[in-house]
Amino acid sequence: DPEMARQSEEVLLKLNEEGYDAFWVGGCVRDELLGRSVDDMDITTSASPEQVMELFADCIPTGLQHGTVTVRSGGYFFEVTTFRTESEYKDNRRPSEVQFVKDIKEDLQRRDFTMNALAMDRNGKIVDPFGGQSDIREEWIRCVGAANERFGEDALRMLRCVRFASVFDFKIAYNTWRGLVKQRDLLQYIAMERVRTEMVKMMAGPHPLRGLELLSRSRALEFIKAPVHGDRFDKKILVCIEQLSGVDVLLRWSLLLISGQYIREEADALLRRWTFSNDDRTRITGVLQVEELMKTVVRENKDQLTLRSEWIVTVLACGRQAAEDWLKIQPLLPSGSRLSTSAEKVYQKIYANAAEWTQTMKVHELKDLDITGENILEQLQRKGGPWLGQLMKHLLRETAIGNIANQHEALTAEVKRVVADDQA
Ligand code: ATP
Ligand code: MG
Repeated sequence: DPEMARQSEEVLLKLNEEGYDAFWVGGCVRDELLGRSVDDMDITTSASPEQVMELFADCIPTGLQHGTVTVRSGGYFFEVTTFRTESEYKDNRRPSEVQFVKDIKEDLQRRDFTMNALAMDRNGKIVDPFGGQSDIREEWIRCVGAANERFGEDALRMLRCVRFASVFDFKIAYNTWRGLVKQRDLLQYIAMERVRTEMVKMMAGPHPLRGLELLSRSRALEFIKAPVHGDRFDKKILVCIEQLSGVDVLLRWSLLLISGQYIREEADALLRRWTFSNDDRTRITGVLQVEELMKTVVRENKDQLTLRSEWIVTVLACGRQAAEDWLKIQPLLPSGSRLSTSAEKVYQKIYANAAEWTQTMKVHELKDLDITGENILEQLQRKGGPWLGQLMKHLLRETAIGNIANQHEALTAEVKRVVADDQA
């Protein structure tokens, strides 16, 4: 975003004009060198937070105790942080104290990896005391300083390490990897939403399998409240993950869980622990639900094509989104992992028809019906009760299957018929 770059440059300029040092720093410099898109531009300066606040009218003291002020310029927000060091990490997480310093190099020293310990001034001059540029060129992730200590100070860095290695497809320097393996049990102290953030970034990247492999190989997985061993996952299924992209990236999680033979409840519990939103959890586990139901359908209907209504019921029970997601995933699965091979033929039929049905089926939910509960109460002059829900579900099913048209008159007629049947 050239406008964001321009606006942040204004901020640097203003700081410089007042005689302060000011740089772009961290991820934005790294991403620029990697030729990746930059979505936030962090700034670091020798000015104290008070001095920054004095200089910029439009600013918010977002993290004064860490020296951070958010400055607004144009429509953009920039985090401006005073050069600082950190000391005394508590609980392998946050530093308990920060100290402001005068020299950018001291600030860069607190940063996690050499590629993130880079600063660039307004003229494009780069400050790189730890060889970050050459590590970027040669595709290495390397801790600033002794990996063992750095991971000991803040365990989140281990997940960041794996995430960067995965997203960038970079190698991990030997000592950094050794430090990670040595300190992996500290991962248990990281807040779950931070685990999720890293995992989501990793899974959405171009090489999620690399990250999964690193988590598995380092046995880090066992310490992030996913008490599982990497070998639980079926590699043949895992390799399909990368075929899902764009908006379907969320479904990579479904495939991951399918490959680990998770049942829905178990998957849901894991995602809950990782603080996934309700919507994401529903979407991810919906696929597992359809998969489970289809297994039953296949088991119970050896090779008949009496599956039509079964399938419809399945679709209705799981919701349309889940059914469509499931259909999307099926063709990606290796043939051996699809529903049992003896039932392959049945499965093919279901699949062929289901694809068609989900397209042609106009009725998916009660609210799609061309009749409401109130209409029915009025028609029958009765009070509501559980019978109404049952009747509505019956109508939904019959319209979905195509036995009756989703038209008001046809539905009223069906109501009349059912009631007459009941009374007979
Ligand atoms: P991205 O924004 O792509 O997730 P990033 O490296 O920019 O990656 P941020 O969380 O935006 O990550 O942090 C900005 C910078 O702050 C980093 O580049 C790094 O220099 C420093 N940093 C972030 N987290 C840590 C940490 N846990 N330990 C040390 N330094 C960190
Ligand atoms: Mg960033």
